[in-house]
Amino acid sequence: MSTLDPRLLALPFYERPHRELAEALGRFCDTHAGLAAAARTGAPEKYAARVLRALGDAGLLTPVDLRALCLTREALAYTEDLLDFAFSIQELAAWPIRRHGTDEQKRRWLPGMARGELAGAFALSEEQAGSDVAALALRAVPDGDGAGYVLDGHKTWIAGAAGADVFCVVARTGDGPAALGLTALLVPTGTPGLRIEPIDMLAERDIARLEFDGCRVAADAVLGGRGGGFVVAMELLERFRLTVGAAALGFARRAADAALARARGRAAYGGRLFDLPTVKAGLADVEVRLNAAALLVARAAWEADRGTPPARHASIAKLYATEAAQQVVDAAVQVFGAAGLVRDSLPERLYRQIRSLRIYEGASEVQRLAIADALPPAPSHVPRADAGPSAEDAEDAESEFCS
Ligand SMILES: Cc1cc2nc3c(=O)[nH]c(=O)nc-3n(C[C@H](O)[C@H](O)[C@H](O)COP(=O)(O)OP(=O)(O)OC[C@H]3O[C@@H](n4cnc5c(N)ncnc54)[C@H](O)[C@@H]3O)c2cc1C
Repeated sequence: MSTLDPRLLALPFYERPHRELAEALGRFCDTHAGLAAAARTGAPEKYAARVLRALGDAGLLTPVDLRALCLTREALAYTEDLLDFAFSIQELAAWPIRRHGTDEQKRRWLPGMARGELAGAFALSEEQAGSDVAALALRAVPDGDGAGYVLDGHKTWIAGAAGADVFCVVARTGDGPAALGLTALLVPTGTPGLRIEPIDMLAERDIARLEFDGCRVAADAVLGGRGGGFVVAMELLERFRLTVGAAALGFARRAADAALARARGRAAYGGRLFDLPTVKAGLADVEVRLNAAALLVARAAWEADRGTPPARHASIAKLYATEAAQQVVDAAVQVFGAAGLVRDSLPERLYRQIRSLRIYEGASEVQRLAIADALPPAPSHVPRADAGPSAEDAEDAESEFCS
């Protein structure tokens, strides 16, 4: 299956290891078509474990950089949502441990996670604190003898929760106001006082609410230092939202390929659907959106890998790629007509699966604000709007208007 576009891989954003990875991903997706099909119909948490094992066996759970992460998400999303889901949640949990973990934390969790034998999840959101991370309320209070923390409160919308062995939880330890009082903690599944309640979502994925009721963890559960929780979360999300753009591109390319095949194959008015000018124009728009999204994702990943602060390009890529993917999937449903609305048909599945990407890891509106706030000052040759036109400009404008 053509999971990645070879013309894009040929661009100078990518290097030989990325092209080799693309080949390995193609082989993985071909070999595991049966697993992907089974995952589609089975309990997501059950299949996530099998998918992680398979990814671990193939050496795909240790991406070398953000370009590798993006290519992996795009190829897996193209093939099957649940492949991408299992991979992305594992990375979301492993990345902060790789970056901030103590030697002991790394030794305990990372080898098993790289083999796909252990699964992680990242727990940040709460009911009253989704986009507004500084409003987090889950409390982690030092217990009497300073040997650890006691967690009370909740987390919600946590992906991969039912299958997780460990949660990276961001809680309020109260060392400072708002964002400054947050600390990341590693909480193993099975810790007394932690309860997991599944939530049924639009697309079948393992999503749950976590209830913490007197849940006690040792002092060495702290990840990234006490009071460092906001930094742990933001460093992660700034990078990972870019990979959401890559996954969106995978879903969109799958939808576009299906729509094109349908338009070329479907008989209509003595010819083919593809012969109709409006259908053609719609498919041209799809092609433009795919190209734009792919270039923005590739540039953002390349910038991050060479050390440019990732936030601005990641926001641009995530915003464009997820909004474009929604339009592409919608266009594909339109090309299929009623057949695109049949439950569990490819267009119908993609239609449900793509929706959440415009919300999680920074809603589109939040990205727009971030992009606008990072706009550079106007270049010095551009007159300020409140400066008014010069007498010369006014004269020119008048003569243009009159001619
Ligand atoms: C499928 C899925 C998986 C998820 N997985 C995880 C996970 O693994 N771990 C985790 O911690 N969380 C996870 N989440 C939660 C996700 O991160 C939040 O849903 C997201 O941060 C938005 O928060 P919210 O849903 O509370 O919406 P709110 O913050 O209430 O925002 C609702 C809407 O208000 C608008 N809005 C919000 N803020 C602004 C702003 N500043 N400016 C303009 N408009 C704004 C936007 O339109 C936004 O969509 C997941 C969510 C989904 C849907």
